[in-house]
Amino acid sequence: MIYNTLSDIDFKNKKVLLRVDYNVAVKDGKITDDSRILASLETIRELLAQQAKVILCSHFGRPKGKVDARFSLLPVAQRLAEILQKEVIFPSDSVGMEVQKLANELKEGQILLLENLRFYPEEESNDTLFSQKLAQLADVYVNDAFGAMHRAHASTAGVTQFFKEKAIGRLVEKEISFLGGLIQQPKKPFVVILGGAKVSDKIAVIENLMNYADAFLIGGGMAYTFLKAQNFTVGKSLVDDLKISQAKKILERAHIKGVKFLLPVDSYIAEKFEEGTTYRLAENDEDWKDNMGLDIGDQTVVQFGQLIKNAGSVFWNGPMGVFEFKEFQRGTFAIAKFLAESNATTIVGGGDSLAAIHQSGYADQITFLSTGGGASLEFLEGKELPGLAVLKKKKIMSEV
Ligand code: ADP
Ligand code: MG
Repeated sequence: MIYNTLSDIDFKNKKVLLRVDYNVAVKDGKITDDSRILASLETIRELLAQQAKVILCSHFGRPKGKVDARFSLLPVAQRLAEILQKEVIFPSDSVGMEVQKLANELKEGQILLLENLRFYPEEESNDTLFSQKLAQLADVYVNDAFGAMHRAHASTAGVTQFFKEKAIGRLVEKEISFLGGLIQQPKKPFVVILGGAKVSDKIAVIENLMNYADAFLIGGGMAYTFLKAQNFTVGKSLVDDLKISQAKKILERAHIKGVKFLLPVDSYIAEKFEEGTTYRLAENDEDWKDNMGLDIGDQTVVQFGQLIKNAGSVFWNGPMGVFEFKEFQRGTFAIAKFLAESNATTIVGGGDSLAAIHQSGYADQITFLSTGGGASLEFLEGKELPGLAVLKKKKIMSEV
């Protein structure tokens, strides 16, 4: 491991600043998905067992650098206390005298959760003074917020310069071992499934994974940019016109390298983007007029399924259709079932993709659910994540 882990540090009696990703899904002040809280427990429990004093910090939503009660971490503090059956001290701030006092008074095995870091614009601007104030709260730093590691913010980057002892947490360790496995020695054939809406975010990951993958299965909204690049009729479907030429190049490169690159051979289409709308399978070019593709069709599902069945490893990011509307969840759930039934190492990442996989009922049959959306993609693009780079082990002179 090129990064320091929890195993490299003695935490006894030390105050640990633990950066977690508590950017949870909330509706009407209630947490609707606590998987990010659950994902943080392993590291927290390990630190508590070692008699550390745990100071948790996280961002939550986009309060735009201002105190905003809608983005308070209070519901998270409450849920965490419930799960751990333990008091979680929750001040109304993340830095300053009151917080510093609470940190200093912490006892071994106690937990403090700081208020949303993004109430300060200094968090996202990676401000040095703010970083220093955060760092002053603790003796040791641990980052277990994989989903935030692609950002160089005060709590993920700036703060680390003030700590001698720093490490990645157990969740991050797991993330980089599963995702890293895909770009080091994937079990072959390695199948990459991509979908969703954000073509521009995901096209770069195709470029890099082209070096490792044996097949790409492209569905969801992003498929129509590739179909249009091949002059297929796509009607009013979601298309990123600025990415057409890059899509063409990718298709050519796949062809030259002998990498399979499957696009939908059929689609369910509708005139309106809404739940309950009438929809049908597109039969011919005429059908596409004033219509958009909102799910992959049945023949596509069969073709994708054959490749998934024979895969050694599968990475999936991005739903195959607008799964939020029940009319268009068939493709996504069918792919989820193929993954669940496959013997391959299966990894699923992405905010909406995780929501879809949970909704499908197959989540517990997936090898690893990555908590990173953008971070997982940038990692697979081969980029060095700024939050990880700062936690590399220092080379000892004799090793150089
Ligand atoms: P993730 O969050 O997993 O990274 P994205 O945010 O890229 O995935 O995409 C998810 C969204 O893509 C979903 O809200 C879904 O409704 C939408 N989507 C999927 N297929 C289509 C389509 N054919 N047309 C428009 N939107 C789509
Ligand atoms: Mg999304």
